[in-house]
Amino acid sequence: MNTERIEPALLDWRNNEPFAARYNDIYYSADGHEEFQRVFLEPSALMQRDDLGDCLQVAELGFGTGLNFVLCAQAVLENTQQRLHYIAFEAHPLAPADWHRLAEQRPLPLFQDLAKAAPPLLSGWHRRGFADGRIQLSIYHGDALNGLRDLNARQQQPIDAWFLDGFEPRKNPAMWEPEIFSAIAASSISGTRACTFTASGQVRRGLAEVGFEMRKVDQRPRKRESLAGVYTGKSQRVRPPVPRHIRIFGAGIAGCAVARELASQGINVELFDPNGIAHGGSRMQASALHCRLLGDLSATAEFRARAYHHARPNLARPDVAAPISAAQLALNAREVEKQRRIDEVYGDSEDPWLQFLDAYAVSEQLGLTARSALLLKDSAIINLPQLCTKLVAHPRIHFVRSAGVGQPDVIACASKSRQFAPAMPLEIGDVFGQLEWIAAPIPDQSPRLSVAIVGNGYVLPGEAHWVIGSTYEQSPWEAATATAHNIASNRAFLGAGEVQTIRHQRAARCVSSDRDPVIGKVDERIWITAAHGSMGSSSAPFAASIIASEILGWIVPASTRALTSVAPDRFIARQARRGVKKVGG
Ligand SMILES: Cc1cc2nc3c(=O)[nH]c(=O)nc-3n(C[C@H](O)[C@H](O)[C@H](O)COP(=O)(O)OP(=O)(O)OC[C@H]3O[C@@H](n4cnc5c(N)ncnc54)[C@H](O)[C@@H]3O)c2cc1C
Repeated sequence: MNTERIEPALLDWRNNEPFAARYNDIYYSADGHEEFQRVFLEPSALMQRDDLGDCLQVAELGFGTGLNFVLCAQAVLENTQQRLHYIAFEAHPLAPADWHRLAEQRPLPLFQDLAKAAPPLLSGWHRRGFADGRIQLSIYHGDALNGLRDLNARQQQPIDAWFLDGFEPRKNPAMWEPEIFSAIAASSISGTRACTFTASGQVRRGLAEVGFEMRKVDQRPRKRESLAGVYTGKSQRVRPPVPRHIRIFGAGIAGCAVARELASQGINVELFDPNGIAHGGSRMQASALHCRLLGDLSATAEFRARAYHHARPNLARPDVAAPISAAQLALNAREVEKQRRIDEVYGDSEDPWLQFLDAYAVSEQLGLTARSALLLKDSAIINLPQLCTKLVAHPRIHFVRSAGVGQPDVIACASKSRQFAPAMPLEIGDVFGQLEWIAAPIPDQSPRLSVAIVGNGYVLPGEAHWVIGSTYEQSPWEAATATAHNIASNRAFLGAGEVQTIRHQRAARCVSSDRDPVIGKVDERIWITAAHGSMGSSSAPFAASIIASEILGWIVPASTRALTSVAPDRFIARQARRGVKKVGG
């Protein structure tokens, strides 16, 4: 298939309630809230069991409208001191318009947050955090069996309770197959509960066969019975210990984001940086949240699109970011062709986060001249130092203003990271750059810019001033040379008049030889997040979630394939092909 998109749910609205037209079934019964208590929460014993860890691991087949998730999260927040990692599987997620409509009906704050942060209609894993990180949602878009098998392979923490809430077995048999039950058992441990609304004999026998001791739960007067069970079968699973303390070197956006992810999961973090918080590339006070999408369905393409969507709901918030749309302009036929391919892979009328504009639309909608444009509708301009400061403001994060000594658990030192991973031939280095703050050009002498320009040029418009950039200097230039370059390369957006410069910021960004970031393990227990190049605003938060998941023993919110594009060891094979001698060998 020539796309990464996933078909959304087909919703009929009956009496203002959603109905799944594809399955000819309801999403929840009229007493959905009470049903959740009686069918899922009480039989799961999640609120009563004292053999569970600090973070409950709950998995649901059939995420639907997110009602069970929201009610479960609310129960955890109100009744326990624990955290929740909720893992859900959905073949046909809701489209944004349906989330909005549901949000109008469900005033619950968590539901409002979920609807605002609903994952895109793209296949695979997505992660969202709520309630200051105490509630984490991992959601798999696609075939449940594929998702379960991936969970079996990559989630180390066993599941404490399963909520089996797919459409009825008669209407959606694929969700109740023996392979599904086997996969459920494979991520279970002694004491794991399985609960479902159906009383189907086939489901009861299927779960019993894989090791669940099943019972019927009286649901009168609403309905007759539902099913619940406890896993008593053999299990390969243990609860892997979670470290209590982690040391991170480097307090740019990469290190601060990992620190916050871990701290919000109860881990004490020591964060070292001799220069203070956000003094490397992350000193940039105007950074565009954007994404250089690719239309080739490669692992890199998959990674970039997921990183952008992961960052968007977390970062496009008013305390650290100014929301704005961002346009990438195509100036020649080759670039138009590339943009068309990207649109084919990601463009979606039901989820229009990305829009392809032809020359006419560019002129009409943006008032600009280009052969075509890709418009990222919900982007933002981020103040990285402010964001880093907020991320670090957590009682479990202890910032130490000095270079890290000894071995870190997480290396986030941009190009200095190499010194902590001597055995790994990391092809990373510094590329310097400069941004200019200029007085906003006089409107009748320049195009009226309502969007940020990224890619070909870099112009972030604002009321009082604009920020333009950015140079790409293999070795550092004089600041005045960089200023002249920035003005010249963005002249088309600035009009012919004199440009009044206000100030500039310079920094180095760490870039790898293939322009992809470096994320993952460099040793058995040492991770790296570096080389975020010109996209740190989107790739660093995603990297943080990936690394934190590995440390916690959770499913990582990126596919194994996408992770190959950023793997730290990818340079070894390349160097072998090029005949470069092994470092230390
Ligand atoms: C001109 C310019 C424009 C940019 N524009 C954008 C943009 O529009 N959008 C975007 O997404 N990105 C942009 N970027 C890139 C973005 O700023 C970077 O990707 C991001 O800041 C990288 O963050 P980092 O944490 O990996 O590295 P850094 O912020 O460089 O942090 C690394 C930290 O490691 C510390 N360190 C080094 N050695 C040690 C040690 N021994 N112990 C402890 N700490 C150590 C350093 O002091 C430093 O603070 C731009 C960058 C530049 C330079």
